[in-house]
Amino acid sequence: MKFSDIIGNRRAVERLRDMIDNDRLPHALLLHGAPGVPKLALARAAAQYLHCTNRTPDGDSCGHCPACLQHQTFNHTDTTFSFPYLKKDDASTCADYLPQWREFLAQYPVEDYQAWLTILKNDNSQPRIFVKESEAILNRMTLSAYVSKYKVLIMWLPEKLRDDAANKLLKLIEEPYDDCKFILVSDDAKAILPTIFSRTQRIELTRPCTEETAALLERTAGLDHREAIALAATADGNVVEAMHLLDSKGENIEFHERFVTLMRLAYSRDLPRLKAWSESVADFKREKACRFLAYAARQVRENYIYNLRMPELNYLTPQEEQFSTRFAPFINAGNVEQLQTLLDTAARDIRGNANARIVLFDTAVSTTILIKR
Ligand SMILES: [Zn+2]
Repeated sequence: MKFSDIIGNRRAVERLRDMIDNDRLPHALLLHGAPGVPKLALARAAAQYLHCTNRTPDGDSCGHCPACLQHQTFNHTDTTFSFPYLKKDDASTCADYLPQWREFLAQYPVEDYQAWLTILKNDNSQPRIFVKESEAILNRMTLSAYVSKYKVLIMWLPEKLRDDAANKLLKLIEEPYDDCKFILVSDDAKAILPTIFSRTQRIELTRPCTEETAALLERTAGLDHREAIALAATADGNVVEAMHLLDSKGENIEFHERFVTLMRLAYSRDLPRLKAWSESVADFKREKACRFLAYAARQVRENYIYNLRMPELNYLTPQEEQFSTRFAPFINAGNVEQLQTLLDTAARDIRGNANARIVLFDTAVSTTILIKR
């Protein structure tokens, strides 16, 4: 992981690079920010830069030296990862999960806690960082660095440290060995034990903007610019969410077809076919039906904006826009809010266990009235 791979957050990258260039990386640094922001990625990039023996003139790791190669295969001798895990027995530590952890880092360039739970095959028990892991950290950190000036411990989600595990680490974090750097990476800094939190220097990361997330989607998924912008806007700067949306692109196409059908049938007031339509959407699982309604509400908003002829405010895929060229005039100041409320309320009712068939048919019937306003 190089600094140039980090999405957005240029100021945080600059600060870290400066710290390392000037040999002023604090012994306990906390990178924190909302889920879906590439914080673990930045911690990895910082460790790689710290260890790289051939840094580039523009201030990045080289990607080719032995240290970089070890980092890129998640195998660096002086870098240790600590993360929430499930206790197999009383002796369990993160070391038991290294194959899964490496698979996780390889698959998810931006950390995704839900994906980690899936890899752990979590059966509803809460992954934590347990006291045995703290003991293992103490043991590792007493050994001096093998090949580098500094050994690094990257701890992902210190808010998952059990109290006894956190207490074991306090002294080490307060009075660390000279060659020892802690980088803590948190989704929720407020949930970290205050005794740990207060011993760290902190850098807060922010959500990348739509353009930055879109650039990532173009680069990694080969989307065209407009498609990438549409997905990135929906994800609102949450890179993990953008990746999930990418996975569900097929679902979006399906949702668009349902949305077009609803609007066409509502316009022609074809009640028998609207009834069949509402039954077909009700056959989705509850959560999927709610995702569809959220999609439909967003399409209503996008079509209203489309009428303003301000493409920089519009986030439509090419297929969606093709429909909007004819459909957008039907969404206007007289119905946009009511349609959105109608769809939001339907989703809320379905989540609250109302009969989805009845709710969706009511929604379809109300749409026939609103669409003619
Ligand atoms: Zn290097």
